[in-house]
Amino acid sequence: MTITGDQSLMREINRMAVVRVIQRVPGLSRAELAKETGLTKSTVSLLVQDLIDEGWLLESDVQATGAIGRRPTPLFLDGNRLAMIGADVSVDSISALTVSLTGEVVNGASEQLSSTNPAVVIRRLALMIASLVEQARADDRRLLGIGVGVPGAVLDQQGVVKLAPNLPWRDVAFQSDLSQELASMGVAGLRIQVQNDYDVAALSEYEFGEAPLPDPLIYLGLGIGVGAGIIVRDRLFLGAEGYAGEVGHSILQFEGPLCSCGRKGCAETFIGQRAISARIAGNTSEVLSVDTIRQLLERGDEAALLAVRRSGHYLGVLIQNLWTYFNPGRIVLGGPLCDLGAPFLDSARTCLESYSQDCGLQLPEIQLSRFGSRSVAVGAAALVKHALVRPLDLRSRDR
Ligand SMILES: [Zn+2]
Repeated sequence: MTITGDQSLMREINRMAVVRVIQRVPGLSRAELAKETGLTKSTVSLLVQDLIDEGWLLESDVQATGAIGRRPTPLFLDGNRLAMIGADVSVDSISALTVSLTGEVVNGASEQLSSTNPAVVIRRLALMIASLVEQARADDRRLLGIGVGVPGAVLDQQGVVKLAPNLPWRDVAFQSDLSQELASMGVAGLRIQVQNDYDVAALSEYEFGEAPLPDPLIYLGLGIGVGAGIIVRDRLFLGAEGYAGEVGHSILQFEGPLCSCGRKGCAETFIGQRAISARIAGNTSEVLSVDTIRQLLERGDEAALLAVRRSGHYLGVLIQNLWTYFNPGRIVLGGPLCDLGAPFLDSARTCLESYSQDCGLQLPEIQLSRFGSRSVAVGAAALVKHALVRPLDLRSRDR
């Protein structure tokens, strides 16, 4: 990686430093921005004008009254003119959303899939994205790029899905195939980024959450699969081959139940939807939907209640382990199992509190995801923004 930059890169680094500071501290004036960034006031004024012209920033006309003289104009991210498209490829459906720079969902579509054949999935997704692109143009919103979240390990520099066991895909050139499909539909010139679904879900919280942003931030996705997206020191923590955060396959019991990954005793075999179903139904052939499990809970079904509480208890154990590994500022829980509510979440909390008392340390902040079932699609849009406002990372990845 080269760390020297040409002038246009230097300018982009400075411009995006301004954007990141405004994101972190909304409402700063130009003079305060100069102080925060270490740039001169005249440079900041030029950059800010540029960013306002391009739709990144807006000047608020809210002025303090009663004070003598004019209060410096506060600056904010502009949620009206720029947008990103974020897509969620899951095992049985696809969805795509147009998301503003400030995290509002502007447009969206979704459909069920009858096939997981990569060519079919990519073609359907391209059609959906092409229609969102057209709509954005009609609304006069400029698109910054397209992000896609997929349930698997991704080589993010090439946009290749290395392994997605539940689809099942291996070495699918997702980014280039999607780019070709879109080009055939007349959509070209938009950067496409592909990343693991839990990783982008973590970015949904990080890019669109309220300041101050916690760091490290861990997003824990809970469904048929269990996995984490981890942000450490302002960057996604991906690991050498993109497998970092596969915490559902950390071992909770030596020689425990057989997992879909081939190992025994993985966290997923205690926490995941399959584990809950197996406990309720007494067999592993059928996976009960979260809706079905919830209805059983509402009817006071004893087996369902025990199964869900047990899963929640092991979730507490997994979180306890993540807590010791990362000392996170915040853990965000997302995914369909969160809809199981109190029996699931309270068991996790009770388990964690007992560990916290044992060791005399205060638990990290634990929250439910702010975007719910849209976390992955919103997060895929957040991925586009996250990369653009860190131009040095983006440029070094292109080399
Ligand atoms: Zn496993």
